[in-house]
Amino acid sequence: MVPELSVVIPMYNEEQVLPLLVQRLRPVLDGLGTSYEVVAVDDGSKDQTAVLLQRYRREWEQLRVVRLRANSGHQAAISAGLVSAHGDFVVTLDADLQDPPETIADMLRVAHEEGVDVVYGVRSDRSTDTFFKRETAKAFYSVHSRLTGMETAGNAGDFRLMSRATVDAVNALPEHGRVLRFVVPALNFPSASVPYKREERAAGESKYPFMKMVMLSVDSIIGFSLKPLRLATWFGFGGFIASLLLIAYAVIGRFTGHAIAGWASTVGMIALVGGLQLLCLGILGEYLGRMYQQLQERPSYFIAYDSARDRDDHRFAI
Ligand code: UDP
Ligand code: MG
Repeated sequence: MVPELSVVIPMYNEEQVLPLLVQRLRPVLDGLGTSYEVVAVDDGSKDQTAVLLQRYRREWEQLRVVRLRANSGHQAAISAGLVSAHGDFVVTLDADLQDPPETIADMLRVAHEEGVDVVYGVRSDRSTDTFFKRETAKAFYSVHSRLTGMETAGNAGDFRLMSRATVDAVNALPEHGRVLRFVVPALNFPSASVPYKREERAAGESKYPFMKMVMLSVDSIIGFSLKPLRLATWFGFGGFIASLLLIAYAVIGRFTGHAIAGWASTVGMIALVGGLQLLCLGILGEYLGRMYQQLQERPSYFIAYDSARDRDDHRFAI
């Protein structure tokens, strides 16, 4: 039987929040008055997450578990969940209770009342995020919208509801390293949003260290804009004009007898041009790497275990 609602929850080493999550999520879902399933995607956790999930599954019929073979990242984990989810509507939710489960009811109501395909959870209050995270996020979204021309709500994360049609469309996109918070709006399904207050992580630590955030930002730009490549072209063009001027200056200096003073300017130019060249190579490399990955056609995750398909996994028996 197809449930009305699937809730996809990616989790990586979330043994500390898992009991709190179940305790808070289950009454909310049971109270919705709709049929539902929870798809817990264990993103290759190394702690007790898998064991706990097996245990909860015994007493919570609607809980399904999909375990990935290795840690594949937040976006890949959500993608795996979207492929596994059966529901007419699918909500993606962080495991750490930063996205309040109670908001799911609002999302469903808005989807029904307004007849939209996508309902974004929009963070009306990010005061629980650190100042650094808020400010870097703001700066990133402004650069992103300038480069891609996309008007993405900077305050929408990965807490959203999608209709079956939307999920099917997302699943049909074979793009590597896709960042769902930009891919979904780009599909242009009718959408609405509901505000929610971003809460503090309920327990444990963030699984998003700074470098992972940087890589997510790079993927978000590379995936939607060719402008960085054009930027490289402009650098090259600018460098060419500058070198013509410099040659003219040197030639004139040679004939008018003015010796060209000092080596600081020479060294400076070499460093500047060298740096720009490396930067442009790096930009090219990012695109090339993405094309290479796409050509390999390797999946971005492998499923090790799916409770809908496999029998209990004894390695994680209690
Ligand atoms: N997550 C995941 N795989 C990863 C990193 C994170 O499935 O490699 C999950 C994590 O368990 C959580 C969600 O993605 O449910 C968001 O991560 P987190 O709360 O650590 O990020 P933050 O809120 O600090 O940005
Ligand atoms: Mg979090």
